[in-house]
Amino acid sequence: EAKNSGRNRWSFFEPQMNRALQVKRMVEDDLRNAIEQDKLTLHYQPQVSIDGSTIIGVEALVRWPHPEHGMIPPSEFIAIAEERGLIVPLSEWVLRRACQEARRWKGVRLAVNVSPIQFRHKDFVANVIRIIGETDFDPGQLELELTEGVLIEDADAAETAMMDIRAHGVGLALDDFGTGYSSLIYLRRFAFDKIKIDRSFLEYMEETGESAILVHSMAHLGRALGLRVCAEGVETAEQHRFLQAIGCHELQGFLFSRAVPAEEIDRLLAVNNPFAEVLAA
Ligand code: C2E
Ligand code: MG
Ligand code: MG
Ligand code: MG
Repeated sequence: EAKNSGRNRWSFFEPQMNRALQVKRMVEDDLRNAIEQDKLTLHYQPQVSIDGSTIIGVEALVRWPHPEHGMIPPSEFIAIAEERGLIVPLSEWVLRRACQEARRWKGVRLAVNVSPIQFRHKDFVANVIRIIGETDFDPGQLELELTEGVLIEDADAAETAMMDIRAHGVGLALDDFGTGYSSLIYLRRFAFDKIKIDRSFLEYMEETGESAILVHSMAHLGRALGLRVCAEGVETAEQHRFLQAIGCHELQGFLFSRAVPAEEIDRLLAVNNPFAEVLAA
């Protein structure tokens, strides 16, 4: 009867819920230890001039080399960090490490991703400025990548924080542009230096397709507003040619390089025209 089936339902679901919770707690403990014990690592993906000749920046992308589970991508732990109150220590670790490592790449801009939760923290700007100071990093060489999620909840606070950041000389890019729902208003209101066209638009792009029209419009809009336009997820020579023809400024994607360890960036920066082979193909 009802009472019985109720009990059965409980005894069926309870162990599962416990297991999910246990897994989460395990990951949380693991991640906390990894942050505290310096066990995360950063890879860097080149941001390339539109002709493909020069690395003008690198984006720091966090990785978690796990002893049992291999290299864990950020998509699998950033959300947990946000949920479990670890995103601020994680982000500070990322920024500090990135500034320390990127200092030697003179004249190369460093892009670092910012989580909305981190951005809303009352000490966000102060923490960024403190870490730049501690690592003796040139603020003019740093660019923070924000997503629209940053702007949605408290637009006034976001505006203030952004002005403050910019007053210190740090650049601001709007990441994953085109995937939110009020991008255009945000572009007018907030002081971005750059938009990064989300890679989902490039994924199935043919030069005559709908995505191509959208990419073209976004690039045009960005340029008309005086912003730098970066396309992410560039994988083919055709995409490169198209993006060049429509007036994008910067490219990022597997066509040139995946995110690689710092030593590999050293190697790429040491050669002239590091992607010559790619461009000739
Ligand atoms: P994102 O900031 O939009 O970074 C670009 C992602 O696209 C990276 O994935 C990069 O490896 C990938 N990508 C770049 N070019 C290509 C391409 O040509 N083809 C394909 N298929 N993918 C490409 P990744 O490193 O897995 O990072 C995923 C997301 O995780 C990032 O998206 C960013 O939102 C977040 N993330 C990464 N590192 C951090 C961090 O330190 N802090 C925060 N808050 N978020 C981070
Ligand atoms: Mg990014
Ligand atoms: Mg992006
Ligand atoms: Mg993206």
